[in-house]
Amino acid sequence: MPRSRFVVLGALVAVGALSIAVAAQQPATPPAGPRVIDVEKLKDNFYVLTSSSPADRATFSGGNVAVFITDTGVTLVDTKLNGWGQALLDKIKSLTSKPVTRIINTHTHGDHTGNNGLFGGSVEIVAQENTKANMEKMDAFKGENARFLPAKTYRDRMTVGSGKDRIDLYYFGAGHTNGDTFVVFPALRILHAGDMFAWKDGPGCDRANGGSCIAFPQTLAKVVSAVRDVDVVIPGHSPMMKPADLREYQRFTADLSNHAQAAMKAGQSVDAAFDAFKVDKYPGYRNERVKAAIQAVYDELTTK
Ligand SMILES: [Zn+2]
Repeated sequence: MPRSRFVVLGALVAVGALSIAVAAQQPATPPAGPRVIDVEKLKDNFYVLTSSSPADRATFSGGNVAVFITDTGVTLVDTKLNGWGQALLDKIKSLTSKPVTRIINTHTHGDHTGNNGLFGGSVEIVAQENTKANMEKMDAFKGENARFLPAKTYRDRMTVGSGKDRIDLYYFGAGHTNGDTFVVFPALRILHAGDMFAWKDGPGCDRANGGSCIAFPQTLAKVVSAVRDVDVVIPGHSPMMKPADLREYQRFTADLSNHAQAAMKAGQSVDAAFDAFKVDKYPGYRNERVKAAIQAVYDELTTK
């Protein structure tokens, strides 16, 4: 092959790989119009900043952000994508004049940690200890920006605040990553599930950050049995859900994981396993991410 053709092909491959990597975290090109984040009120002192569906690149601002307004300040769960900081600040300001005093990151990804640095150095940033380790590997938290890493971490369970301001954090094992926090607001009966329940589709399992599509349903089974006193479940990237939706998602991910493991043992290809998995029995479910989840199970079993 002539050298020029080889170089061009190499460049195309490199660009392709880069755009796939970028697409996983943020829009390839920022939207041209004004950036506006939608809001949903769950309680007088609790809102969710939405515009969280990656399917719509123009409005995708990152994962659902919880805004919990207490007497002493505002706790955020997650901080959306870098580049959406001003829209995030504007929306919070429209809800309360109180300062953000605490950030809880559900996991490491840039669409959940992208504006940790926006609220000053005195904000308490909290995450599961594996998530902190994953964040330390990100360019966004190198050098100067290392001060926006979580300063407060925990392993299995931690409570912050008390009384009506109490927040319970739980880590139940690997799934989307190896550091996903379930955030419970007991007085308000709300659970933020992060990307352990992102959408009604195949789970995302980030194996580079310790995620596991095999452990995923087992981890969800633990939250289903341990966290019972909630009415609303905030998913990572979809409209608000009910506890029954979370229970159904646990069954769905178990079904999918078992199906993929059986198909691999039977010597089937990933394509064949995907074709044989029907989402029809789960109303409202899509299969756009099912094949990737099956692939993740195959990869995990292959490299074990
Ligand atoms: Zn994620």
